[in-house]
Amino acid sequence: MVKLAEWRGKELFRKYGIATPKGTVVRSADEAERLVRSGGVPLPCVVKAQVLAGGRGKGGAVRFATTPEEARAAAEAILSLTLDGQPVRELLLEGKVNLSRELYVSVALDRTARLPILITSGQGGVEIETVPDEQIARQRIDPFPGLALYACRNAARSLGLSGAAAGDLTGLLRALYRLFDQEDAELVEINPLGLVGEHLIALDAKVIIEDDASFRHREYAEIRDDRTPLEEIAREKEIAFVQLEGNIGVIANGAGLTMATLDVLKEFGGEPGVFLDLGGTDDPKKVTEAFLLMAQARPKAVFLNIFGGVTRCDTVAKGLVEAMQTVPSSERFPLVARIRGNNEAEGIAILRAAGVTSVPDLRASAQAVVAEAGRVA
Ligand code: ADP
Ligand code: MG
Repeated sequence: MVKLAEWRGKELFRKYGIATPKGTVVRSADEAERLVRSGGVPLPCVVKAQVLAGGRGKGGAVRFATTPEEARAAAEAILSLTLDGQPVRELLLEGKVNLSRELYVSVALDRTARLPILITSGQGGVEIETVPDEQIARQRIDPFPGLALYACRNAARSLGLSGAAAGDLTGLLRALYRLFDQEDAELVEINPLGLVGEHLIALDAKVIIEDDASFRHREYAEIRDDRTPLEEIAREKEIAFVQLEGNIGVIANGAGLTMATLDVLKEFGGEPGVFLDLGGTDDPKKVTEAFLLMAQARPKAVFLNIFGGVTRCDTVAKGLVEAMQTVPSSERFPLVARIRGNNEAEGIAILRAAGVTSVPDLRASAQAVVAEAGRVA
């Protein structure tokens, strides 16, 4: 999954003929002020944090300015923010448009119907999850003919648009669907789509590209907007590694067991901070690499929850013990293990020799690691 920053999404929009305000990306308050002063962005303008987080408007990460000095102040304020754990490093400056309505349109994948779906609502500018269902129109799209004209007319009707605005909507929706299709997106969302006179203009852009189609879109492989530096290293080593907000590290194998482990930690009040899915690894070296990556994320405690199927418990234990010995003592953390399955006894013996006890019960082991994390904090 590649999530594009708003400015990249808007670049794509323009490529497909969807209108957006003219904008420029800057990285400092100085640059913001200079850009506005030189007329590079029209006044009044909007200063927007380029982080992959929703609700920037509410969080003070979208601000308006009418002078270069105001643009500077807005940039300074936004660059000091952290949203969803992401520090703001880039800002998009663009002209402020005078809109009479904020609409919502998106094309997403309806996984139940296995079809793309067009979603529209007259209640734009707020998160779609908060809009009452009866104010949202959904139309499935047959991918062979593509987005039909009647679907566009239905959408216009449900949004209360007529005349030139309805015509504009048809062009926009067809471009949106073309983008979704040709770029292999999972989601293309415009929220809000501003109504300015009789015209529509995309004021926000959320584009998520499907990973499984990455072989067709090498250009997206270069985009790292949504990865932390450690996630980046993990990706290069082909290790499934995700950083979250909490302080407990999770090493598990298989997506199902990994998710279940996060759930059970939450149940006992733990906050998973990073998780690592060893998958079907049967190589102690790979386990060592993964563990060292985990150590760099500085968790307060680590929960190792392994079910040995293809992965043998002793392989994991061996890799882990080797890795533990290379972590400097100042960076060590308590480790709670639960390993079951293939070569379980051998694995448990290797861990025990290194001073780690394996707790066989899932709930008991989760509670133990939550207690360890609490003790350290
Ligand atoms: P988020 O969805 O993260 O809150 P948006 O890009 O949707 O961020 O911006 C929040 C709100 O700011 C929009 O709903 C809209 O009212 C206003 N806004 C954003 N960009 C512009 C713009 N170029 N001109 C006028 N208003 C804007
Ligand atoms: Mg928005």
